[in-house]
Amino acid sequence: MIRTRCLLLLVAACLGAQDAPQATAERLRAEAFRTHGAYADLAWLCDRIGNRLSGSPQLDQAIDWAQGRLKAAGLVNVHAEKVMVPHWVRGRESAELLLPTHQRVNLLGLGDSVGTPEGGLTADVVVVGSFDELDKLGEAVKGKIVLYDVPFQGYGRTVAYRHDGASRAAKFGAVAALVRSVGPVSLDTPHTGVMGYDPAFPKIPTAAVTIEASTQMRRMQERGERIRLKLEMGAKMLPDAPSANVVAEIRGTEKPDEVVILSGHLDSWDVGQGAQDDGAGTVTAMEAARLIQSLGLKPRRTLRVVLWTNEENGLRGGLGYRDAHRPELRNIVAAFETDSGSERIKGFSLDLRKATPEAKAGALASLKKIGKDALEPFGTIDLRLGGSGADVGPMVAEGVPGLGVGHAATHYFDIHHTQADTVDKVDQDDLAWNAAALASFAYALAQSDVRFN
Ligand SMILES: [Zn+2]
Repeated sequence: MIRTRCLLLLVAACLGAQDAPQATAERLRAEAFRTHGAYADLAWLCDRIGNRLSGSPQLDQAIDWAQGRLKAAGLVNVHAEKVMVPHWVRGRESAELLLPTHQRVNLLGLGDSVGTPEGGLTADVVVVGSFDELDKLGEAVKGKIVLYDVPFQGYGRTVAYRHDGASRAAKFGAVAALVRSVGPVSLDTPHTGVMGYDPAFPKIPTAAVTIEASTQMRRMQERGERIRLKLEMGAKMLPDAPSANVVAEIRGTEKPDEVVILSGHLDSWDVGQGAQDDGAGTVTAMEAARLIQSLGLKPRRTLRVVLWTNEENGLRGGLGYRDAHRPELRNIVAAFETDSGSERIKGFSLDLRKATPEAKAGALASLKKIGKDALEPFGTIDLRLGGSGADVGPMVAEGVPGLGVGHAATHYFDIHHTQADTVDKVDQDDLAWNAAALASFAYALAQSDVRFN
């Protein structure tokens, strides 16, 4: 009797080793909800380290912390791969309306902006609704502050005003540029983010104001009132600072040289806690690997966690990784990047830049075949061709298949890059769900022989 039971257990264990992908997915999900490890990590990262701009001591601390957590989870080859990153500091900043009424204006300098002269600058404000309006005004904005009051029409479209607004205004002699925060709603929350200067024109200071303040100034202009503003910004760029991507692995048992990457970026803006952007992506990648490890699953290919540095203002992590890993790029089977918040995953997009249309269609069919089983317990997950992520971008451009992770993101742009990007906005069940879905899909890819490129 006892011997029969032992035999049955042995058979069950053997069957367990070859669980159907659906059964593995269920186990990963149950473990994620039992432990809620992703949320615990995110809360610690956010509450104890805080936001993590490139060059800051907090980012260094986060790089150390993540390595410790990945080692504790039993991952191997845990290390930091050094890259140099831009080091921008915000300094003190303020804005004050002097006319037609006296009022403090809530603002956030844009990343990589220059500061104002010592003591600030004071000038009249001209409000425009588009680059076309600015171009029509031309030299009329000389000596003035240009405010772009542009309603949110999706991030990709509206962000051009934040990124290019300063140089487009400087071209006509403006002394500073303000942009309405790039987001659909606001609770007086200005929204920072990176900007870039066109070297053909003078560098002028630039900042985001809230939707509240931006629309108020537009109404003032429509009433024919003179708007005068004092702007003070202590922003400056320091010499490049050392930083690093964090790397850790579960080595493949049969094809260790073939790699599936799970990634998110560890750096954030210097406001709020960087919870959605991209603490959530960071802990989702870490937790996915930890779930696989803790269930004792042994992938045939290597699973590699990469936590990027400097996504927000330079992409040096992604660029440095591509350069340091050139010889093995063709062995990277797929590179996941999670960087659009913490709401539930709705889809994955396969990013193939060097494939023919026929090859892309074939690759998508293979992806769907694997996803059908591995993602079954996670409801309707859309698998399509599309973009992936900023950090994996440099290697994706070289032909590495990228896998973008698409979230519901119903409230993502309400808070990202603002003081309100804090851990209390994150749902712990969503995080557990996402980590398990990512783990299941990545593990299934690591078990397969599929090649997308
Ligand atoms: Zn991000």
